[in-house]
Amino acid sequence: MVVGLWDTCVLSQGIEDYENYYNEIHVDDEQAEVKTRNALQSPLQRWPGQRIYYRIANNFSEIEASNVRYAVSSFNDQTCLQFEEMTGNPPAGRRYVYFKKSKNMCGTRVGYQPLQFGSHDVQLTERCLSMPGVIQHETLHVLGLFHEQSRPDRNEYVEIDYDNIPRKYWSQFMAMEQTTTFNVPYDYQSVMHYSKNAFAKDPTKPTIRALIEGKPVERDMGQTRGPSEGDLAKIRIMYNC
Ligand SMILES: [Zn+2]
Repeated sequence: MVVGLWDTCVLSQGIEDYENYYNEIHVDDEQAEVKTRNALQSPLQRWPGQRIYYRIANNFSEIEASNVRYAVSSFNDQTCLQFEEMTGNPPAGRRYVYFKKSKNMCGTRVGYQPLQFGSHDVQLTERCLSMPGVIQHETLHVLGLFHEQSRPDRNEYVEIDYDNIPRKYWSQFMAMEQTTTFNVPYDYQSVMHYSKNAFAKDPTKPTIRALIEGKPVERDMGQTRGPSEGDLAKIRIMYNC
């Protein structure tokens, strides 16, 4: 965990600094379920149709709620998806994305959960709620995207330096063999890509290097501003836009 850096150097943060990896601190049941999101679910689990209902918990501040609305409406503008906000109690049987506040957790499960009824929870701390790009990252998980550097073809594009990563975080760098790329080019600027120093033991050295003509090269990767063209391209393909 790089918790110590959170308040002091926000600009140098990678997306991985916002989510939570509970290998060393207390995990309650709800969080344990979220923890498994990167390993167990398939991106082929897509929301049926293009209209997706969402709900914002009633303890959000005005700014937090408007950040969520801004984050999801960007998908309405840039893809064929139509996120529609619900207020009040959802009709029985309705599936919806539920943005909830958490003291210490930013995360959600990847993709539509066919066996789960009601809400698909997205947990966000106040810090994550202050960043529309982080809310969009979590929304892309909800829609079925894993982290970019977990693509099954990632070994052609990046090299992971496991020597510089504590063993307990190795699982965060697994390639997900059962996922698909939809033939969208590998995108170092994806909002789903970890930064080059993600989980580094020695933060002066990268843990992820780009492979350019087979040679490992240090370069910036990942960002927290919002979906890249590659991220949007995948969503458009997945949801038949
Ligand atoms: Zn993530």
